[in-house]
Parts: sequence; C-alpha cells; structure tokens
Amino acid sequence: MNTPLLPIYARADLSFERGEGPWLIGHDGQRYLDFGAGIAVNALGHAHPHLVKALTEQAGKIWHTSNLYRIPEGERLAQRLVDATFADVVFFSNSGAEANEAAIKMARKYHASKGHPERFRIVTFEGAFHGRTLATIAAGGQQKYLEGFGPKVEGFDQVPLGDQKALEAAIGPETAAILIEPIQGEGGIRPVPAQFLRGLRELCGREGLLLIYDEIQTGVGRTGRLFAYEWSSVAPDIMTIAKGIGGGFPMGACLATAEAASGMKVGSHGTTFGGNPLAMAVGNAVLDVVLEPGFLENVERLGLLLKQRLAELQDRHPAVIAEIRGQGLMVGLRTHVPNTELIDAARAEKLILIAAGDNVCRLLPPLVITEAEIGEAVARLDRACAAIEKQLKAVAQKGAAE
Ligand SMILES: *Cc1c(COP(=O)(O)O)cnc(C)c1O
Repeated sequence: MNTPLLPIYARADLSFERGEGPWLIGHDGQRYLDFGAGIAVNALGHAHPHLVKALTEQAGKIWHTSNLYRIPEGERLAQRLVDATFADVVFFSNSGAEANEAAIKMARKYHASKGHPERFRIVTFEGAFHGRTLATIAAGGQQKYLEGFGPKVEGFDQVPLGDQKALEAAIGPETAAILIEPIQGEGGIRPVPAQFLRGLRELCGREGLLLIYDEIQTGVGRTGRLFAYEWSSVAPDIMTIAKGIGGGFPMGACLATAEAASGMKVGSHGTTFGGNPLAMAVGNAVLDVVLEPGFLENVERLGLLLKQRLAELQDRHPAVIAEIRGQGLMVGLRTHVPNTELIDAARAEKLILIAAGDNVCRLLPPLVITEAEIGEAVARLDRACAAIEKQLKAVAQKGAAE
C-alpha cells in the first residue's frame, strides 16, 4: 500500500464505508461483525441514532468556542460524571494520552503545592499501556515504544503486576502516586485482583500517595459497571477515561477528588480543543444510553454469556484457544497459535477482533450487541478455529510424510 500516510501502522488492506450497530460495511461491499469497536471506542456501535442526532443538532448550533468561555454542555457532562463516581472535578481532553498527562501533572502538582516538589515519581506496572506521548510511553515502560525517542521522561518506576514486595520497594520519599489499569487492555486483558487494588489503596493512605486509575479502556460500561473499579469498591483519587465516553468522537477526561486536584489553579493546565461543544454533546448522549436503567446489567449478562460460549469453543478447539479472561464485554482469548493467525482467520470469516499483548485476541464488541449477534460471532470464531486446526493438521501430516 503506497500512501502518503506516515507508515506507523501495519494496516489491514480493508476499509469501511459505513456502519450499523455492530456491523461494518466495507468498501468491498462485505458486512463485517465488529468485535473490536475501534479498540473499545464505539461503545454504542456505529451510527447510533441518539448519537447521530446529538452530534448533528450540535453541529448546526456551535462547534467550538474555546475554554475562555463557559460551555454548558461540558458543565452538564462533568456534573453527571461527578454524580456517578468518586470524583468532584473533571478536566476534558481530546484523547486518552492527554487525559493521562493531565493526571500525571495533577499528581505532581498536588505534592508540589503541599511543599513537596521532590515528590514527583509515579509507580506503574509491567504490561501497562498509558498512551504514546513522551510522558505516557515512560509511564507504560514498554521498550518497543521508548526505543529511539531519546531519554525516557524521568519519574516513572515500574514493577511487575501484582508483586506487592517489588511495589513496596519501589516507593520512596520521591513517590507521588501509583498509576494502574484495573484490567490491563493492550497488555492482554489482564485483570488486577480486587485484593491487590485494596492493598494499593491502603499503601497510598499510609504513604500519602495518590491512586490513579487508567480506565481509558475499561470505563464507560465496558466491564458491566460504569467503571471497572466499582467491581472492587476501591475508589481512586484520580481517574482517566477516553475511548468509550465519546462513542467514536475523540474525547477524554481526567476525573479527580477535590483534594487530589487541589494543586491545579487557573493557568496550571489547558487545552484548546478539550471539552468542545461537539464532544460534550456526544459525551452526554453516550451517558444518556449507558445510564439507562438496566443497560449495565445487560452488559454484565451478555459478558457472562459470551464467556460461556467461548468456553464451549475452547473445549472444541483446545489446540487453538489456551485461555479466556476478562470482565463484561472486555474479553481476551489467549491462543496457542500466534494471535495474529486467529485474527486473520476471523477476518476471513468477516469477524473483527483486535490483538493485544501476551498473545491475546481481544473481543470488545459494542455494548449494544445482542445475544443473537454474540451467537453469530461465536459461530464465525468456530469456523476460524476449525480453519486453523485444518492447517495445523496439514502441517503435521506433511511433517510426518517427510
Ligand atoms: C487507548 C489507551 C490509552 C491511550 O489513549 P489514546 O486516546 O490513544 O491516547 C491509554 N490508556 C489505556 C488503558 C488505553 O487503552
């Protein structure tokens, strides 16, 4: 593919003309069942009528005014997020990485404003993903994303996920905060036990640290609760969201308690586009649907159903599927074959999945998926697994014949 786009993605030679709920209609005329949702972004599927209406109505009124003026739709969205969470204040950004940048700056400023500017270090976990800005690649700590971009931004200390001893050893007089995804997404749908989160909360209390959750992938209903932390009842001091909250419109947010945000004053931070009227209109529309009575319970129910159906599939294809994990409609299939093989085989069956670390295929369907569509996806995945097994057998036979 010869295009003037910066070649930073190994793009599939596939593009989509339009979407309807969980379906994507390709320029090739084919209908694909979308279990990637633009990497957990299209929480309500494609072209959801309520979202289309909110965006087009807002587009006819006003697009952008800047944060020099009040934006009523943003104030309303912030209030709704505050009412639904641990938080007291909200900062809107355009992306997940920017929301994390705000969280990192907020945590550092908190300690600085209390007379401890030396407390700027943040503990993160192996396998984490927090974005692609200079600070967030340092936070994520993945060598493949840091390589060649000069000195790693100072102030991030990484420990193995779940390793209490290493964690306590990493905390010192310069530590400001702990940053963690309640379920690692890009790392391969790796859930963090509630017990570990409780330990973090205690440790933060004892050491005067801020606890930051990156719920950019897990948030906004993905796991069957509005936010994944609700499963553990362990609230953070700061939390970042993005992906699902815009339903496909670029936006993110950094939520915080009044105390954690107390260092941030007029002029401390800013954004030109963040929280603009178009994004706020869509964000409110997403919440209208996700907060409807019964919506999250249905996500939880469908998530259980999906995992059950996948467990049956694993029984049928033990040579392909090694493990099923996740929560709600955030599910990972660890495979025995390279995960890209299953993703390619699924795509041949017109089912879209997404790769993750630890040789995992992610299933992240729109939260509006139906039981019947889950059944259809599993049937397609069944055929994809069968195709891989057939190949494995052919290779084995060829090996035996030689
Ligand atoms: C996607 C993601 C990010 C980065 O979001 P961008 O919008 O790509 O900047 C950060 N953290 C987590 C957990 C994510 O899944």
